[in-house]
Amino acid sequence: MLEVSAPGEGMVFHPVLIWDDQDVILIDAGLPPMATAVKEAIAGSGVPFERLNKVIITHHDIDHLGGLPGILSAAQQKITVLAHEEEKPFIEGKKHLLAKIEKTIANLPPEEQEENRNNYRNRETVEVDVALSDGQQLPYCGGITVIHTPGHTPGHLCLYLTATKTLITGDALNSNQGKLMGPIPMFTVDQKQAMASLRKLLSFEIDRVICYHGGLVQGDIQEQIKKLIG
Ligand SMILES: [Zn+2]
Repeated sequence: MLEVSAPGEGMVFHPVLIWDDQDVILIDAGLPPMATAVKEAIAGSGVPFERLNKVIITHHDIDHLGGLPGILSAAQQKITVLAHEEEKPFIEGKKHLLAKIEKTIANLPPEEQEENRNNYRNRETVEVDVALSDGQQLPYCGGITVIHTPGHTPGHLCLYLTATKTLITGDALNSNQGKLMGPIPMFTVDQKQAMASLRKLLSFEIDRVICYHGGLVQGDIQEQIKKLIG
């Protein structure tokens, strides 16, 4: 689990880095100005940045995707970008999810609302090389299962790492003080669907959870998820 903060505001995000002899995989990439910080965090884990060969993006929100263009352009090597097939058009800027933006800007003055919409429409995008689907097993770093968890965005995914029984949640779950919390309604396009998606996680034997917002959670994971679902 990496710990990277946004310049200025100091908000901390948790991209994940997993690696073995063949692959070095980054999961989520921070805000646009954080590309350098993410690069440094990778090197700080003892893995040369030059070995990074895959990035999996959980969904196209700017705090997850924003740093990726900078990371790709800083790399000499080929980095393969993977994401869920339903998120691919949003990551590539071919589709927009303005319904989600509207939720977060409702209380802003009209001109600021328009600025936010424009920023979103003109977001920096990347090509997705590999489109993933629900239940797909990726043969990297001891095995990774793709779990499609729509709701926060239509193509949101979680990842289950078989070797360490670790669940990487993106924004499907958040955590606070070591406890799991549900997706945040204000930032979630379909809260009902997002909550229903959490049920899927119960079929995995999970020892630890890494939330992009809030970090590591350990202990009675199944119980915590069941409680959230209600
Ligand atoms: Zn987020």
